[in-house]
Amino acid sequence: MPVTPEQQAEIDALRATPRPTLRAVSDGMEAHLYNINPVLDHGFVRVIDYMGDDAAICQAARVSYGKGTKSVQNDEGLIRYLMRHWHSTPFEMCELKLHVKLPVFVARQWIRHRTANVNEYSARYSILDREFYIPSADQLAAQSSVNNQGRGEALTGAEAERVLDILKSDAARCYDHYQDMISDDGQQGLARELARMNLPANIYTQWYWKVDLHNLLHFLRLRADAHAQYEIRVYADEICKLVADWVPFAYKAFEDYRMGGETLSAAALDCVRRMLKGEEVSQETSGMSAREWRELQEVLG
Ligand SMILES: Cc1cc2nc3c(=O)[nH]c(=O)nc-3n(C[C@H](O)[C@H](O)[C@H](O)COP(=O)(O)OP(=O)(O)OC[C@H]3O[C@@H](n4cnc5c(N)ncnc54)[C@H](O)[C@@H]3O)c2cc1C
Repeated sequence: MPVTPEQQAEIDALRATPRPTLRAVSDGMEAHLYNINPVLDHGFVRVIDYMGDDAAICQAARVSYGKGTKSVQNDEGLIRYLMRHWHSTPFEMCELKLHVKLPVFVARQWIRHRTANVNEYSARYSILDREFYIPSADQLAAQSSVNNQGRGEALTGAEAERVLDILKSDAARCYDHYQDMISDDGQQGLARELARMNLPANIYTQWYWKVDLHNLLHFLRLRADAHAQYEIRVYADEICKLVADWVPFAYKAFEDYRMGGETLSAAALDCVRRMLKGEEVSQETSGMSAREWRELQEVLG
């Protein structure tokens, strides 16, 4: 359970007091506001606030006084045009504020995305909860033999059991020592800002994270991708569902042009044109490196 009954009651109270507004409202996002979307074993993503909707993207693109376009179909067409041609600033007019609970090693990857505003739970001021990410059996995988930056098959048998035991017992031992060091029972008690250095990277932290839609889509493009580490990808996947409900036209265009689309180099495009004319193109005649050629083959299926 990622939140306590008291925290859930606070969320329920927020959802129980709707107020009318003149601002743009996305019905899809209103249904998500404040709710917990569980991720991993103790983590979550929840929407705290948002600004704008699909129509707001068009409104900004047109710099209009009222609505951006005259019809919903026009909105979708304009959004697809903007996405296709990298006219990105209208997407920056929509904003999303999330509350995220995530393991520290995931937070380290996430924080590399500099174009967001972050406020993190202070482990100088507060005591961290005794919550650690322990991978499920299918994610407890061996080092990949083909990709230095990835994992292969799941560990099995005695090795899987031993690794799980190490992860759990090390986390428990470190947390026991953390509690022991900060305790002021019969001792001075080490400062929280120092005691935390003994905690492992699978302990959970929390932050509020605010980002505009353009930079959020960039984050999702990188982190919902199959090459991203599973533990951050599951957060990105959850956010994708929220964005699909918030700005459905923008999300559809993003899926089409960014997630599902590919960018080809001039050399790759030349190969494709030659293939379409019926020419047998090989790596040797392609003008591309072996790796580029392999990647083009993967793109072309
Ligand atoms: C699969 C994968 C593997 C990775 N492996 C590693 C790794 O091994 N080591 C490592 O250190 N990182 C790694 N990263 C992190 C990666 O290098 C980026 O730091 C991260 O994805 C954030 O991307 P970004 O800079 O585009 O995003 P943001 O910081 O959100 O920036 C968005 C865009 O704004 C612009 N921008 C932002 N700040 C600046 C700036 N100061 N100057 C110029 N332009 C700016 C750029 O156009 C940028 O693309 C990895 C990321 C992925 C997805």
